[in-house]
Amino acid sequence: MSHSARLAALAAALLLGASANAAPPGWPAPGPMPPADNQQLAHDIFKQIVEIRSVHSIGTRAVAQALYARFKAAGFTDAEMHLVPETPNWPNQVNLVVRLKGKGKGKPVMWICHMDVVDARPQDWSLPPFKFTEKDGYFYGRGTSDMKDEDAAAAAALIRLKKEGFVPGRDIIVAFTADEEVGLEQDGPAWLLKHNRDLVDAGLVMNPDGGSGEIVDGKRLDFSVETVQKTYMTFRWETANRGGHSSEPRPDNAIYELAGGLVNLSRFQFPYKTNATTRAYFAAIAQMASGQKKSDLVALSREPLDAAVAARVAQSDVAMNAILHTTCVATMLKAGVQENALPSSADATVQCRVFPGETEAETLATLQKVAGNPDIKVSLLEPVQPAPETVPDPKVMGAVAEVVHSMWPGVIVLPEMAAGASDSIFTRAAGIPSYGVGGGWSVISDIRAHGRDERQEIGNFYSTVEFTYRLMKKLSTAS
Ligand SMILES: [Zn+2]
Repeated sequence: MSHSARLAALAAALLLGASANAAPPGWPAPGPMPPADNQQLAHDIFKQIVEIRSVHSIGTRAVAQALYARFKAAGFTDAEMHLVPETPNWPNQVNLVVRLKGKGKGKPVMWICHMDVVDARPQDWSLPPFKFTEKDGYFYGRGTSDMKDEDAAAAAALIRLKKEGFVPGRDIIVAFTADEEVGLEQDGPAWLLKHNRDLVDAGLVMNPDGGSGEIVDGKRLDFSVETVQKTYMTFRWETANRGGHSSEPRPDNAIYELAGGLVNLSRFQFPYKTNATTRAYFAAIAQMASGQKKSDLVALSREPLDAAVAARVAQSDVAMNAILHTTCVATMLKAGVQENALPSSADATVQCRVFPGETEAETLATLQKVAGNPDIKVSLLEPVQPAPETVPDPKVMGAVAEVVHSMWPGVIVLPEMAAGASDSIFTRAAGIPSYGVGGGWSVISDIRAHGRDERQEIGNFYSTVEFTYRLMKKLSTAS
């Protein structure tokens, strides 16, 4: 190779290197990275577990065993690890609980990380969903953002602490768990809390499945910590009628009766409410607003709630509306059997996201009243798991903020109430304060969890590993 050819080759190699490290469009430069050997380990674990199809029908056994082998190779003893199959009913739903022993200063801090994923059909994707593909600055594959990225980050961070000989003040537990996406009884944390409480008896829970940073227009906007969730309740509204011939209609009619009730629902607003989380949230986002919006948000952060302000804010913004009260909306409708027969029945599905603290019975009674007609029968479709709010503890929020700021200075850290559900409802219901904190940031115009071509930005993945390491260290050291 001539001198100039060598120089050209070198320049090409440098360019390649540069493009491999540059963040893809829409992504700011990542935060600090773990050391190279830990990056490699995190990458290898991530690849390995994404390529295991741990969907509901197959279970989490293979992922749990793969992680078990990784911890074993890193020096964890059998006494520090427990593979927990959910026998006898769901033997392929397997949990893995790993513990890094501390000095016994307080109850353990525990990460809960679900290993299951929703399924993906190869024909819907442009890449094979259960193959780990690196392309254009992203890792692709089912689970790369929900939440095998966080599973790999927790595993790599815990192994790094072990290798460094770090002895935490209190034990660090990581529970890699089964069947979050589908399970109720057999959901991993629910099952462990019921059958193996000694393994998971923590004083504090971190759940990376929910809460994290938001990126808008290439900028890091804020970092949210989920401390409470709305309760998911679905109701059926039914009417029945003796039916008859459509040539002889009568005033009584199953469709008209149901429709009348649904129109009432469309005009009804559940009372506006706030809780410790949403008040702190409004106070935090008020700092980023100006004018009328700022004064409205400041008003919402105060008690007692000014219902007129809440109504104004809710009516101007569907996302705000969702966190200011219970919402119920008709989502499905079915009635009649034939065009020339009076309908013998009509039924509607009404989906509710209920403000924390309101019960099934209260919500049902309100809907029955709103329907305005005792002939509309309202019933709850499936039982729900109620969970209390984790009132944001300034010590925990402060520790999270410190770690966030050590990586991304100046970002606002705020508690949030989520409209969706995660495993934190089970740990909260068991009385353990639980925080949704993931180190991975999201570009909110490009959320692909559960969707096609799910992916994770490469730099974001490695800084998640570093974040998890720092947060484990911080929370297990502070009391
Ligand atoms: Zn998830």
